[in-house]
Amino acid sequence: MSAHVVIVGNGIAGLTAGDTLRRLGYEGTITVVGEEPHATYSRPALSKVALAPGDDLDVGTLPAATHGATELLGRTVTGLDPANRVATLDDGTELTYDGLVIATGSHARRFTDSPREYTIRSLDDAARLKASLVNRPTVTVIGGGPLGMEVASGAVGLGCDVTLIHPGTPMELHLGPLLGGILTRAALEQGLNIIDSMVSSVREEGEGMAVTLTDGTVLTSDLVVTAAGDLPNTAWLESSGLLVDGRLIADERCRVTDSIVAAGDVVLIDRGEGPRRTPIWTAAIEQAKVAAAALIRGDDADPLDFQSYFWTDQWGLNLKMSGPIPQGTDPVVVKGSLEERSAVLHWPESGTAAALNMRMPIPRLHTLARTEPATP
Ligand SMILES: Cc1cc2nc3c(=O)[nH]c(=O)nc-3n(C[C@H](O)[C@H](O)[C@H](O)COP(=O)(O)OP(=O)(O)OC[C@H]3O[C@@H](n4cnc5c(N)ncnc54)[C@H](O)[C@@H]3O)c2cc1C
Repeated sequence: MSAHVVIVGNGIAGLTAGDTLRRLGYEGTITVVGEEPHATYSRPALSKVALAPGDDLDVGTLPAATHGATELLGRTVTGLDPANRVATLDDGTELTYDGLVIATGSHARRFTDSPREYTIRSLDDAARLKASLVNRPTVTVIGGGPLGMEVASGAVGLGCDVTLIHPGTPMELHLGPLLGGILTRAALEQGLNIIDSMVSSVREEGEGMAVTLTDGTVLTSDLVVTAAGDLPNTAWLESSGLLVDGRLIADERCRVTDSIVAAGDVVLIDRGEGPRRTPIWTAAIEQAKVAAAALIRGDDADPLDFQSYFWTDQWGLNLKMSGPIPQGTDPVVVKGSLEERSAVLHWPESGTAAALNMRMPIPRLHTLARTEPATP
């Protein structure tokens, strides 16, 4: 068993990997290196409660770490030598390891280096954005996925005039046409201005920002929030020999090599259907559990078996969804009513269940999603 495990990244994947090592009986040393100076926090809360009216930047509390690791926070790993099992930190410190967990997450895509183009990935990003939004600037949000819609919802709630740019119906790619349509209608009712387009460029103009759409239209606003996807944090691995076409790929036990595992937003997992990223909170947790077990047990560890789970809070609506994105077919309304935007829904064909503004324990939602269609 490894005597020194180094975990790179102090997000939910890094935290879960450390806690899981201990739960499985690992008694050796653990060192966690985290670029952010903060203890692990809830990243999903950054675009939800953290942007709610009020002075607090409330991101809730996570259960305290149980890994008893030496934590090097506010420090960055800048290079990795897998042959000699050495990770190098930003100050030149070298950490030798027997086992390594790569959990460095991802960073937001952006168009410019302008401080008036905001992204929201870290607690510090959220604090900076909220401090600006409370002055009620005009805001352009680029991207109508969960992040863009949650930020838009928060900004409208803080009294800002907000325009969101997205090709097609916001949220549809993530939730399918029915649920995407419900959230989009709620957004329009609450005053969001939606433009169906792509962005070709963003630049500073005067005291504000100018966003050029693909048809040449130029929109100006005080600030821009870009919520147009994220890119894995793999720059520190560039000379490690671990990347394949610039990507970090792990097997179904989250192993990159015998002594290196990876979990969370940074990695693509190959479960036999080609390498895929699953950049969501519960995937990071499940992958980290499997990764930690694989460091200890190798081939005897269970492979990843993950049922997709996603949630969002926006426009006064809470949505939880288990299973793949439902397409086309009408759901069975198990409880409540779609008109009232309060319902439990089931798509038996795709194995999906959703609770819209309804309290429902996640295990029950998973069970409903897996329930076979009723035979006529
Ligand atoms: C605003 C926001 C809202 C979200 N909402 C939802 C949601 O509602 N539902 C959902 O399922 N998912 C949501 N997600 C996605 C979810 O938060 C991520 O999938 C999850 O946090 C990934 O965890 P992680 O540990 O892999 O990466 P991260 O949480 O990104 O943690 C990685 C950590 O590693 C650090 N790091 C990076 N490079 C280095 C280095 N070289 N050395 C040391 N440390 C390093 C980073 O600073 C970071 O602290 C949201 C994400 C964001 C940004």
